[in-house]
Amino acid sequence: MRLATLPRYHLATLPTPLQRARNLEVALGPRCPRIYLKRDDLTGLAFGGNKARKLEYLLADALANQATILVSEGAAQSNHARITAAAAVVAGLRSVLVLDARHGSAIAGNLLLDHLLGAEIRIVPDKAARSQLMASIGDELRAAGERPYVIPTGGSVPIGAAGYVAMVAELLEQLVSAGEAPSRLYFPTGSLGTQAGLVVGARAFSAPFAVYGVAVEHPVDQLIADGVTLANGTAELLGTGRHVTTANITIDGAFIGADYGVPTEEGREAIRLLARTEAVFLDPVYSGKAMAALISHVRSGELDPNEAVIFLHTGGGPSLFATGTTLV
Ligand SMILES: *Cc1c(COP(=O)(O)O)cnc(C)c1O
Repeated sequence: MRLATLPRYHLATLPTPLQRARNLEVALGPRCPRIYLKRDDLTGLAFGGNKARKLEYLLADALANQATILVSEGAAQSNHARITAAAAVVAGLRSVLVLDARHGSAIAGNLLLDHLLGAEIRIVPDKAARSQLMASIGDELRAAGERPYVIPTGGSVPIGAAGYVAMVAELLEQLVSAGEAPSRLYFPTGSLGTQAGLVVGARAFSAPFAVYGVAVEHPVDQLIADGVTLANGTAELLGTGRHVTTANITIDGAFIGADYGVPTEEGREAIRLLARTEAVFLDPVYSGKAMAALISHVRSGELDPNEAVIFLHTGGGPSLFATGTTLV
């Protein structure tokens, strides 16, 4: 595998902790399996989250291409946009963020942090306008004498997904120390870079767990198809061989609710429960919905109380400060 030789720029504080969630287990009752939290909310860079692992490889690639400015996109509360701006600061580059205001654009949460990080921020009304601006912004920046490095939504290209291939190796070492072989790894899936990396890593390193993505947006069929493409691109980049098919991509669409970024009642309950049992903060867009899936599976008896599962906490906490009192 070509992972060790893929250029990487140190950004995250690794390994992130793997912690047993005993209070949560007690709260969920006697039929609860052992639950471990993989704390990627604690990757360290600029309030952390899963995007720090992807940016380690993306930033190295940007620097290899002599980039002067990082360009990325997302919703106004994008965690990925925040980490991109932070990575640019660390490497002495500039950044431009194209952010859509479909869920508002109040300067709070991630958007406040983007401003503090000195990113150039372009707010557009919706996703269509975002795509339109992203199509032309590279030319605009080049005409102004810059060398832009454009990172697609979520950093979800094979180079970014490599961060989660590496995470599987890190996690497997921790599981050996803990003497555990969990059956499932739950996590929220959006632009699929995390899932693609986990799937490729789990196969390459023979992980015991199934990679269980919980969708945060519709439509799931499209997500699965895109996940297959991205996982195969990642496998090709790293030379791990073995073709990924739809059978290797598990995505649960039952916890999305109305839409991306719209909180659900079971997600709100999950956020409160984790805060009150573990003093761990989930977020309403991603990690709250994924934890709602795990809680639901414990309650329905889908998980064996004798097994162990992992919840990958992908971060997202800063968006709590833009959500406000609708969560309590
Ligand atoms: C981006 C993000 C995800 C989803 O990761 P993808 O690689 O885009 O699927 C999950 N949780 C949080 C908090 C995120 O910011």
